[in-house]
Amino acid sequence: MADEIIILPIGAVDSALIEYLSLTVGQAFGREVRPGRAAMAPDFAYDPVRRQVHSTLLIDRLESMPRAGDPKILGVTEADLFIPIFTFVFGEARLGGRAAVMSVARLRESHYGREEDRRVLYRRAEKEALHELGHTFGLVHCLDFACIMHFANSVEEVDIRGDGFCSRCERRLR
Ligand SMILES: [Zn+2]
Ligand SMILES: [Zn+2]
Repeated sequence: MADEIIILPIGAVDSALIEYLSLTVGQAFGREVRPGRAAMAPDFAYDPVRRQVHSTLLIDRLESMPRAGDPKILGVTEADLFIPIFTFVFGEARLGGRAAVMSVARLRESHYGREEDRRVLYRRAEKEALHELGHTFGLVHCLDFACIMHFANSVEEVDIRGDGFCSRCERRLR
């Protein structure tokens, strides 16, 4: 299908979470979403010094995978992601491009020494998925704190950020 979004696990990822994202993120973009089959592990992009995975390399790999049509691909991984100028990233996307990646590692309460909360995790993951996919549809960061395209650098910022697009971003999406 030309106009679909594929949610692709990278390495071992909670399959219920992949299903959840497949059911929730399509509506905002008016596209069909389907879960993909895990086709790669993040290991090749692992940096042994930083002990993190370089997200740009994952995006390169996702974009080079042959696909029918012109789908958007969101890779989801448990690996902690980085790009060289930041200590970590929740995700990365190619602006107006085909692929984005996101990590659930720092969306987990357990990462902060708190008890795991599946509901909180799924809600954060949904927001992060919408944000990164928004970039692939050409949206840049938005100054509106309530907008899903507002930049978030901590899990607290993810939590206070709204879960929808502001009217300006919504218009750009159409
Ligand atoms: Zn962003
Ligand atoms: Zn906005």
